[in-house]
Amino acid sequence: MKYFKFQPANAHRVAVEGEEMLFHIPTTSLFAMDAMDAAVLDFAAGQDGFSREDLERAFDGSAKAEAAQRLDNFLSLDIVNDGRPLKPERPPIEIENFPLTTIVLNVNTGCNLACSYCYKEDLAVPSKGQKMAFETAVKSVEMMLAENPDRDDYNVVFFGGEPLSNMPLIRQVVDWAEPWFAERGKGVNFSLTTNATLLTEELVDWLDSHRFGLTVSMDGPKTLHDLNRKTVGGKGTYDAVAAKVRMLLARYSSRPVGARVTLTAGVTQIYEIWDHLKNDLGFAEVGFSPVTSGEMDAFNLNGEELLEVFEGMKSLGRLYLTEALEGRSIGFSNMHQLMQDLYEGRSKALPCGAGVGMLAVNHDGALNLCHRFTGSEMDEFGTVDDGIKRKELAGFIKSRSDRTEKGCATCRIRNLCAGGCYHESYAHFSDPLKPTYHYCDLMRDWVDFGIEIYSQLITAQPQFFHNHIAPRRANGK
Ligand code: SF4
Ligand code: SF4
Repeated sequence: MKYFKFQPANAHRVAVEGEEMLFHIPTTSLFAMDAMDAAVLDFAAGQDGFSREDLERAFDGSAKAEAAQRLDNFLSLDIVNDGRPLKPERPPIEIENFPLTTIVLNVNTGCNLACSYCYKEDLAVPSKGQKMAFETAVKSVEMMLAENPDRDDYNVVFFGGEPLSNMPLIRQVVDWAEPWFAERGKGVNFSLTTNATLLTEELVDWLDSHRFGLTVSMDGPKTLHDLNRKTVGGKGTYDAVAAKVRMLLARYSSRPVGARVTLTAGVTQIYEIWDHLKNDLGFAEVGFSPVTSGEMDAFNLNGEELLEVFEGMKSLGRLYLTEALEGRSIGFSNMHQLMQDLYEGRSKALPCGAGVGMLAVNHDGALNLCHRFTGSEMDEFGTVDDGIKRKELAGFIKSRSDRTEKGCATCRIRNLCAGGCYHESYAHFSDPLKPTYHYCDLMRDWVDFGIEIYSQLITAQPQFFHNHIAPRRANGK
């Protein structure tokens, strides 16, 4: 007789408005459950092992056949199996080639501001900034294409320091890259994140004419923004930044412009920040980045503050749902991203594209996993002159994607979180290979919340995904 076993590592039940949803963990898919599904799962979860006959005995009359059919569904999803250890969903990733689609260029280590929480280990005042040479930028782009020649489109991201502090290089790269890609029948997208202080009308129009994807680092209304985002002389930058942002948003038409908010100690007012940036200033989207592992402890959110942040994000998430049910988007990036992951059923082996589809190039041509590692003490993965250190980079990716004996192996959000950001791990544990174990419970709670919102939205307003989520993909999100 065959014995079956419930496999809790593959199923997660979430209550949504009095109904139950089944989150199929291996595929990140959601199914609506009915009373029979729930009864069969309850039965299976309550047994050490059971046979088909045991299941049938637990149900009366015509329910027997239906229960047996639900068991077959759960067997096909590996939510119930014959008791053998679960197959690894995916073996650790072995790569030889790096399908680069994005290259991040650190055009200047210098920044014209001196934000108190800045994590950049290589950051310098403008006069000491180390600038990338044009040849290094060209070699970086050529390397991307040589590594992955068959794409239609590629991305070049300018990073710093403050990228606008090296506009001569950015203009030179764009003027070179556009025809260079076009001659090869390919497209190129440019993007950058800026503190906005160096924007002029002429520059905004130039960026607009090249369809740059723009994100502005801004932390909310004056009282909050000025806490940390300061000039080298220590003065708050809100007034200058807000004036530039108003000018930018009034002129920029090629793509939506987003704001990126850094949440540090004492800055947990999610609604107030979103309201100001979205409704007073007019950003298309507002995204929040909580800092838990910065170099300087004093700026890290403590446990209580982090809880407040997630509560604030959930509260804004409820507003997101209310408006979305009416077909409107409130431009809350974190929620959009979660909706997008669930909508596309993304099952991630890795947390992001760093080191696989994306590499960052330091001002001197050294290769890093992503922009956050440029200038760090972590070993580099080659240079644009000598190429990628394939063995080392492949080894890193393989090791990070191996979930054996890690808490992630059975975690219910393992295919969304995938162990978390490498830099977060590096900053928190000095080990980018270690998963970001320091806020797993909050992440799991956030994803459960997202499942609740998603389930209501996809049922009542599926058009929202077509109108507001799908276009983000076209914008490179
Ligand atoms: S880091 Fe934590 S939340 Fe993320 S997959 Fe691993 S165990 Fe789950
Ligand atoms: S490692 Fe972290 S910071 Fe770098 S790209 Fe990935 S998620 Fe972003």
